[in-house]
Amino acid sequence: VIDAVVLDVEGTTSPAASVTGPLYDYFRRHVDRWLDGTGPDVIDVLDDVRRLLDNPDADRYRVAEFLHLLLDSDVKSEVLKRAQGAVCHTGFTCGELQGRFFPDVPPAVRAWHHAGRAVHVYSSGSEHNQRDWFAHAEDGNLSPWITGYFDLDSAGGKTDPQSYSTIRSVIGVPSERTLFLTDSTAELAAATAAGWTVAGVARPGEQARPVGAWPWIAAKGGSLASGQ
Ligand SMILES: [Mg+2]
Repeated sequence: VIDAVVLDVEGTTSPAASVTGPLYDYFRRHVDRWLDGTGPDVIDVLDDVRRLLDNPDADRYRVAEFLHLLLDSDVKSEVLKRAQGAVCHTGFTCGELQGRFFPDVPPAVRAWHHAGRAVHVYSSGSEHNQRDWFAHAEDGNLSPWITGYFDLDSAGGKTDPQSYSTIRSVIGVPSERTLFLTDSTAELAAATAAGWTVAGVARPGEQARPVGAWPWIAAKGGSLASGQ
């Protein structure tokens, strides 16, 4: 019996190439102008970057340069994540950014919800970006069917079994009654080690191949809902 479903995003609900690339591109193109704003989130980011630079007089150009540098070096940074969440939020609300999902995902999410299963998301993308991705999906708002979102800050790394124990304690469903769907064998191994029920997702055009002893949805007709 499955009471909760936890979904990976890149390669599982959404084409991997549709997620990080477009969000990073949007951020690169819009962060400079965003920093010209006067909202409280802009002021907070300016203050935090100036502190990191140890330079209270750093102008907005210098702050933008630093944020670009963080993005390009793939450094995990709280202030970058906050700036990305805010900048991309504008992109989502104006329609320039949209969550893209494989066609079986919206019906599967609705079916799980209506069957009484809580649906959660666990992705390395920030919770703010995850929320926008599901709320501003190409085919409509999926957020009414999503109970919660976990990212690296709230849950920990996706290949660490402890992260799955952390999520389990938050969603309050026994491990074996929680189904995790992902395209990553390292994540399948970690969730299995935490006692979760898992299924791999191998989609045409994505990188994952069905290997190991886990059940894979590719062999069951390709719909996420067949993994329950
Ligand atoms: Mg993935």
